[in-house]
Amino acid sequence: MVPLDKLHDACGIFGVYNHPEAANLTYLGLYALQHRGQESAGIVSSDGHTLHAYKGMGLVADIFTEPVLKTLPGNSAIGHVRYSTTGSSQIKNAQPFVVSGGMGHIAIAHNGNLTNAMEIRKELESYGSIFQSTMDTEVIIHLMAISREETFLGRLTDALFRVQGAYSLLLLTENTLVALRDPRGFRPLSIGKLGEATVVASESCAFDLIGARFEREIEPGEIVFIGPEGMASYKPFAPVAQSPCVFEFIYFARPDSIIFGKNVYEVRKELGRQLAREHPREADIVIPVPDSGMPSAIGYAQEAGIPLELGLIRNHYVGRTFIEPKQSIRHFGVKIKLNPVNGILRGKRVVVIDDSIVRATTGRKIIKMIRSGGAREIHFLISSPPTRYPCFYGIDTPTKSELIANSHSMEEIRKYITCDSLGYLSMDGLRKVVRDDTSPFCFACFDGKYPVEFPTRIPEPQMPLFYRL
Ligand code: AMP
Repeated sequence: MVPLDKLHDACGIFGVYNHPEAANLTYLGLYALQHRGQESAGIVSSDGHTLHAYKGMGLVADIFTEPVLKTLPGNSAIGHVRYSTTGSSQIKNAQPFVVSGGMGHIAIAHNGNLTNAMEIRKELESYGSIFQSTMDTEVIIHLMAISREETFLGRLTDALFRVQGAYSLLLLTENTLVALRDPRGFRPLSIGKLGEATVVASESCAFDLIGARFEREIEPGEIVFIGPEGMASYKPFAPVAQSPCVFEFIYFARPDSIIFGKNVYEVRKELGRQLAREHPREADIVIPVPDSGMPSAIGYAQEAGIPLELGLIRNHYVGRTFIEPKQSIRHFGVKIKLNPVNGILRGKRVVVIDDSIVRATTGRKIIKMIRSGGAREIHFLISSPPTRYPCFYGIDTPTKSELIANSHSMEEIRKYITCDSLGYLSMDGLRKVVRDDTSPFCFACFDGKYPVEFPTRIPEPQMPLFYRL
């Protein structure tokens, strides 16, 4: 059996139905979702008779030139941006997948991770199924193909009843766009309107770019068919406890998006306010680690009444380097990306805010940089609890052993980072801010309580998964 490359995968998806410029809109939608994955991108369009696909490695704007977009005709389209690790860093694993067979042409784009894909794949291969890729998503197509149900909806639900884990999916046939979320609703997915057209996106920031109106989120466990007869919604799953990913709020989603019924920017700012209540510091300035710490730093500064300064300047023309598949990039990465503003830091007691600590390599470099900029005291405060457990539902995190908070005490981490004090937001503080008493979340990366089972033998990555400054 060809092993599935990985369990870790971060993605964004976008779809359009009934617009003469479907591929161009999908290109723009993916552009707005680029932060969700920068290693490969793809668009599949339908002209009503057949599907047209183009996929490439790299950034949306580099892959989809004007001549390429002209090869994607039709009034509907779906697209995908993806981040992966080395084994999966191949065009054959870029999405959307397109298959042709007894069910006609189908394209599928997936955000999330299926936790039982390996077992299903093994079973299917033993019956003779031949897989084109090493991605978990492909099992859904195979399960649909062998289903005895007659209708598309029947085959789809048949397949979905077998898979577990996180999936926000878009499927495109010649004349229908299907959008759905897993019953627990791990990953976001929303519907919008653009004139007569219907659009679907991982995050609402994609609607803003194309001038679409946000309509509503697709509900956990809901399957929406958008076709010539209009829109139809199905809820075939037995109700289960919902567990949308709280890390979308902390780090992953764009701050200008609305997901899981909340404004991401407001949540991040409130996390910063809560952090200030939990970790007050005598300091002269608050500085964010750009860009991920920005909203929380604003919240912290406002709550604490300490001036906010941009003590670190980011070079925006360097991508999120955590996606670079070469170890060497990581070493000079921080210097490429961030530079301290010396005059601002000299002699100051500084509170530095970031959203999370993963391996602590970034934090250590940043604190050294701020120290070299002349800061007198540095208090490193994090607007989430310690990340101790890997994610199996679609956020790219390293293995347990690589997560510094999994194996080190607070004092050890502080010493490693070389800051004068270190503080994390408490679990209670996080719960209070996201109001999990009214709607629950998945906090597995912080508390290890996984809402859906995952394989006991977790494949080790072939090379470090995580490359960020
Ligand atoms: P580290 O140096 O490994 O501790 O990285 C911490 C930085 O990575 C923080 O600034 C976060 O904004 C960012 N970060 C947290 N989670 C992820 C993730 N899953 N993928 C990429 N970057 C992340």
